[in-house]
Amino acid sequence: MTRLLITIKTLSPLYAGALKPYGSFLETRGEISGALLRGAVASRTLRDCAAPELINNHEACGVKDICPFYYLTTGVAFPTCAVADLTRPTEPPLRTMVTCNAPLEPFGKRYVNEGGGRYHSASMPRTRRMTHVGINRRRETAEQGLLYSVQAVVEGTQFIGCMAAPDSWDERRVDEFKQLLESITRLGGEQTYGLGRVEIELKEADGDEEDVPTRVGEFNKKLKEVWSNYGGENAPQGDYFTIDLLTPALLTTPDGTPTVQLTADMLQARAAELGFANLRVEQVCCPDDAGVARPLMFTAPITVAGWSEAWGLPKPPALAATAGSVYVFRTDDISAWHDALTQIEAHGIGARREEGFGAVRVCDPFHREVEPQ
Ligand SMILES: [Zn+2]
Repeated sequence: MTRLLITIKTLSPLYAGALKPYGSFLETRGEISGALLRGAVASRTLRDCAAPELINNHEACGVKDICPFYYLTTGVAFPTCAVADLTRPTEPPLRTMVTCNAPLEPFGKRYVNEGGGRYHSASMPRTRRMTHVGINRRRETAEQGLLYSVQAVVEGTQFIGCMAAPDSWDERRVDEFKQLLESITRLGGEQTYGLGRVEIELKEADGDEEDVPTRVGEFNKKLKEVWSNYGGENAPQGDYFTIDLLTPALLTTPDGTPTVQLTADMLQARAAELGFANLRVEQVCCPDDAGVARPLMFTAPITVAGWSEAWGLPKPPALAATAGSVYVFRTDDISAWHDALTQIEAHGIGARREEGFGAVRVCDPFHREVEPQ
């Protein structure tokens, strides 16, 4: 599996899409969504497609195997790129993180893992606001009441995101994707006002990240060390692992109901979709204050909006589990899960993964930061 690192630098202020797409007082997102990147790739490749009317479902394109619009946008999990000053992507705060002040409070900032157990919090995107006067096209004078204001991320900001190249891509295809992405010079809205000039670089990510079996192994080693300190009797049975959300995930129960929970059934179903049938896993539960066993999940709901490039209309808002959510599972046969978890990490979970939703990490190294020395 090839991991690709995308670095985007803003050369002019960037309006990275609206949280609320209406009104004359626009507020920018602080990150570049996978949907925005995908839209830029789509608009560049669609010109050369023989069947552009099939923009929404391109399976029926007569020449899809040689159609760049199809193979560079379908089944490709475009990453959400967040502000980063170093050369590493930043991470959303895990829902299990707390500050070391008294009283303990949830930690709410993105952070950078510098490696070797060193972490620091990431900088926030810097924005400024610009006001434009609308021009009446007929009279070519300022139109009354058409004053509007755009908030934009300032020039000189660097965004980084990381994605897995689809398994079907060979070196040539990765190179084609790189060429295309690096040829994008504008992103986001309000480009007629000179906004959104960018420089994009794509390269293979350094292989210095621990692989999934290593992270799972280290996680369980730590768990055994501290088990008794937290009231655990005997020793932990089997192996535990976490699924950590790097971006919001649009999850549904087997009957299609939106949910913020990731159950054992849902995880097994995702493994089966990726070709690992008949794997079994258990939900880990803990008694709450009233003694009722609750699944060990640290999550919260958020609403995500979206914009359909194809239709030029907002997508209906959807319920998502927030980035940084943590779900805990247990299995008696961890080695059977190694490949499945590696694939789940590469491909993500839930709906609209091509827009950057549902990116996950298994057993984030931060979970081992318990009782740091
Ligand atoms: Zn096509």
